[in-house]
Amino acid sequence: MPFNLHGDDVCQPTPPTPIPNPYWVAFSPSVARLIGIELGADNFPNDPEWLGVLAGNQLNAGGLTFSNPISTVYSGHQFGSWAGQLGDGRAILLGDINNLELQLKGAGRTHYSRMGDGRAVLRSSIREFLCSEAMHALGIPTSRALALVGSKQAVRRETMETAAVCSRIAPSFIRVGHFEHFASLQNIVRLKELADLLIAEFYPECLANKEPYLDLFKEISARNAKLVAQWQSVGFCHGVLNSDNISALGLTIDYGPFGFLDQFEIDHICNHSDHGGRYAYHRQPQIMHWNMACLASAMLPLLGLEHSAEESQDLLRSTLEEFPVIYAKEWQRLFRSKLGLQSKEDGDTALIERLLQAMHDSKVDFTNFFRSLSNLKKDSKPIELMQRNEFIDRENIDQWLADYINRLQSEVLSDEERKGLMNQVNPKYILRNHLAQAAIEKAQQDDFSEVQTLQQILMQPFDEQEVFEHYSKPPPVDMQALAVSCSS
Ligand code: AMP
Ligand code: MG
Repeated sequence: MPFNLHGDDVCQPTPPTPIPNPYWVAFSPSVARLIGIELGADNFPNDPEWLGVLAGNQLNAGGLTFSNPISTVYSGHQFGSWAGQLGDGRAILLGDINNLELQLKGAGRTHYSRMGDGRAVLRSSIREFLCSEAMHALGIPTSRALALVGSKQAVRRETMETAAVCSRIAPSFIRVGHFEHFASLQNIVRLKELADLLIAEFYPECLANKEPYLDLFKEISARNAKLVAQWQSVGFCHGVLNSDNISALGLTIDYGPFGFLDQFEIDHICNHSDHGGRYAYHRQPQIMHWNMACLASAMLPLLGLEHSAEESQDLLRSTLEEFPVIYAKEWQRLFRSKLGLQSKEDGDTALIERLLQAMHDSKVDFTNFFRSLSNLKKDSKPIELMQRNEFIDRENIDQWLADYINRLQSEVLSDEERKGLMNQVNPKYILRNHLAQAAIEKAQQDDFSEVQTLQQILMQPFDEQEVFEHYSKPPPVDMQALAVSCSS
C-alpha cells in the first residue's frame, strides 16, 4: 500500500546510498512472484538490473522506476522506557508494487539514523532473511524477505564486518511507534490520518462500526494477541519487543536477536543484551499486552473526538482487557492442535501445562518432542515413546503420557489422520541458532550455499525431508548457549 501521508514531519525523501560491487547472497523466488518480478531458469531475476535496485545502487529495473524512496518517522518505548523519536534509521521504503511495500534494510543513512551508520551487517541480514521466510512457511504473519545482497564494504560493529542489504516486503510497515510519535506531539490531525489510512486499506470492516477508532484498536490488539500465541506455539522469541517493533497489522517485523527455543526453558532469554529478561519467552504475551497499552494511550485523542476523556479511557481500557482473553483462547487452540486434539475438554489446558512443566524441568527439545508425539497411537503404551528417555522424572512423564493416551480415546480421528494433522502444526525444522551460525560463518567466507540450503529446508518446515534429517537435531552441547546480541 502506498504510504500516502505526506509532509516532512512524517517522512523524508531518502535515496539509498550505493555499495560497491554487490552480489546475490540469497533470493526468494516466491516473494519475487508476489510482486511480479520475472525470473530466469536459475530462479533469480531475469533483468540483472534488479541486483542494482536491491543493493540500493539504482532506482530502476524490470520496467519499474522507484522515483520516491522515503524513510518514515516513528517514536517508541524501548525496554519499557520512552525513547522519544526514532524512525527508519536504516530502512528505506522504495515504493510499492502490487500493493506491497518494498523496503531496503541497510541501504545507508536516513534522516532518522541518529548516531547509526544506516547499514546492516551480513550476519544479521542472513538471520532476518532466513527467519522471515521460515516464519512465513510456519504460517505465522510476518514481513517477507525478497533478497539478500552482499558487498565487501566494511561495517564496524564489535569487530569489522561486511555490509548487506536485505529487501523486505509487507503490506505496510506501520508500527505502534508511528501512533506514539504523533500522540507524543499531540498531533491529532496526523493521528487521524494514520488511523484512517489503516482502516481504509486493511481494516475496512471498522467503518461499519459506530466507533471505528475503537474498533481499529480492538482489531490491531486482537491480531497481535493471536500473533504472540503463534510465537509461543513454535517456541519463537522475538528478542526486542519494543513498541517501535510492533506492527499495526499484527505481523512479525524487525528480526534482530530473535531465537527459537531448542530445549524448553520457559524463561529463556534469547537476546544477550536483555539482562533483566524483559523479553523472555514466558513474558512475551504480557509484553505484547503492554505494547497494546502503549497503542491505546496513543489512540486516546482519537476517541476524544467523540467522547469525554473519561469515556475514552474507559472504552479503551475495557477493549485492552480483551487481550489476555483472546490470547488465552488462541494459545489453547494452538496447543490443543499440537497435541492433536480436535475436541475440547475441560482438562485440556491442565494437560498442556503439565507437559510444558515437565519439559521445562528436564530441558527437553521443544520442537522435537512435540513432533514425536504424533507417533503415539490410541493403543500405545507410554514406554513406547522413545523420547520419554529425555525426561529426568520418568515416572512423571509416563503418567502424563498415560493421561494423554487416555485423552486420545475421546478423539474421533484415526491415528493416521491425527498424525497427519499434528505434523502440519508441529514443525520438523526450525531456524535453530546453531544452524544460522554455521550458514553465517560460511557466508563470511563467500560460500552462500548453506544460506540457500537452509532457505530451502525452512520453506517446508513440516515435511520430513529425509536427506536433511540432521538439520532437525538439537545443537551440539558446545553450541547450546550461543549468544545473540542486539548488535546488527
Ligand atoms: P532496532 O532495535 O533494530 O529495532 O532499532 C531501533 C532503532 O535504531 C530504529 O529506529 C532503527 O532504525 C535504528 N537503528 C538500528 N541500527 C541502526 C543503524 N546501524 N543505523 C541507523 N539506525 C539504526
Ligand atoms: Mg526496529
